[in-house]
Amino acid sequence: MPDPAAITGCIGLLLGGWRIVSVPNRWNWSNNRVCQSLYVNLPVTTAFITHRDCWRHDMGAHHPECPERLGAIQDRLIAAGLDLYLTYHDAPLADVEQLLRAHPQSYIDMLKANAPESGIVHLDPDTAMSPGTWQAALRAAGAGILATDLVMRKETPNAFCAVRPPGHHAESGRAMGFCFFNNIAVAVHHGLAAWGLKRIAIVDFDVHHGNGTEEIFAGDERVLMVGSFQHPFYPYCGTENPAANMCNVPLKAGTRGDVFRQMVTDVWLPRLRQFAPEMVYVSAGFDAHYEDDMASLGLVESDYGWVTEQIKAVAAASAQGRIVSILEGGYALSALARSVAAHIKVLAEL
Ligand SMILES: [Zn+2]
Repeated sequence: MPDPAAITGCIGLLLGGWRIVSVPNRWNWSNNRVCQSLYVNLPVTTAFITHRDCWRHDMGAHHPECPERLGAIQDRLIAAGLDLYLTYHDAPLADVEQLLRAHPQSYIDMLKANAPESGIVHLDPDTAMSPGTWQAALRAAGAGILATDLVMRKETPNAFCAVRPPGHHAESGRAMGFCFFNNIAVAVHHGLAAWGLKRIAIVDFDVHHGNGTEEIFAGDERVLMVGSFQHPFYPYCGTENPAANMCNVPLKAGTRGDVFRQMVTDVWLPRLRQFAPEMVYVSAGFDAHYEDDMASLGLVESDYGWVTEQIKAVAAASAQGRIVSILEGGYALSALARSVAAHIKVLAEL
C-alpha cells in the first residue's frame, strides 16, 4: 500500500478536457512518484529535476550565484500554477564513471580534495567551494544523467533540471565562472555512451560563452553546439569557433530579442536541421534578460518562450521530441524565475 501521507498530497484532476494530471506534494517531491503510480495511463509530462542539496552550495553573502535562485524558480512555478503539470524527481548523485567521460580523474580528485569542512575555498576569483558544494555539484551533474534516462526511456518527452552549481564554463580540467562539473557535457556523454546516440545537439543561450562545453566537444563530430553570447564579455572567447561542430555567435551589448531571433532563424536553425540531432540538450541560462545586470543584452520572457518553440520544432523533426534542458545562469531573481516559467510552459505545452 502507498504511504497514506503521500496519498493526501495527491489528487487527480481533470483539466483541459480529459487530461489527467497528478498534483505534486510540493514539499516532498518524491511523494509525487507514489501519487502517479495510483493512476493508470497517465500522460507523460515534462520532468522537473532538482534536489535540496543544490541549495547547500553557498559561495558567500552577495554572490549572484546564490541558493535563492532555485527558490525563486520554484515559487514562480507555483504562483503560475505550472508546478501542477510537472513530474518532480530528485536528482541522483553522478558517479565517477559518468564524470570521467567529461573530466579526468585528477580533476575530480582535486575538487574533492578542496571541498572544505567549513568556510569557503576559492578555486578562481569568483568560483568557490563551501561544505555543501561537492554534494551539490554531484547532484547537478546527476540531474542531467537522470533526465537523459527518463527521456530515452520515454517516461517523459522532455526534462528541465533546476540545479546549481551551473556547468558550461567548467572545462575538462578547470573550474571557473561559478562552474565545477560541466553538467551538460556529462549528460551529453551519457547520451552518447550509455544510449548509443550518434548525433546530439547542444543549444546554449546563456549570455556567457559556454567555453567549457566548447573545449570538451570541439572536434567531436557526434555533437553540434550552437550558442550565442555577449561579446566582448566574460570569458572573452568564443568567436573563433575552433572546430566545424562549433557554431557560437557573438552578440553586441544592447542586442534585443528581434536581432536574437533573426540570428537563431538565419544561423542556428539551418545548422540544427542539417545536423538532424537524435537528442537536443539546452544550456539554459537566462542572464541575457533585460533585467539581469550581470550583462547587457535585452531578451525578455517571450524571447525565451520563442527560442524554446524553435528548439522543440528541431527536436520534433529528428529527435522524437527529446529535449533535456539544464539551468545555467540567470541572476536577477524575478526575471530568472519568469523566464524559466516561459521556457517550461513551452516545453510542457501549457
Ligand atoms: Zn551566464
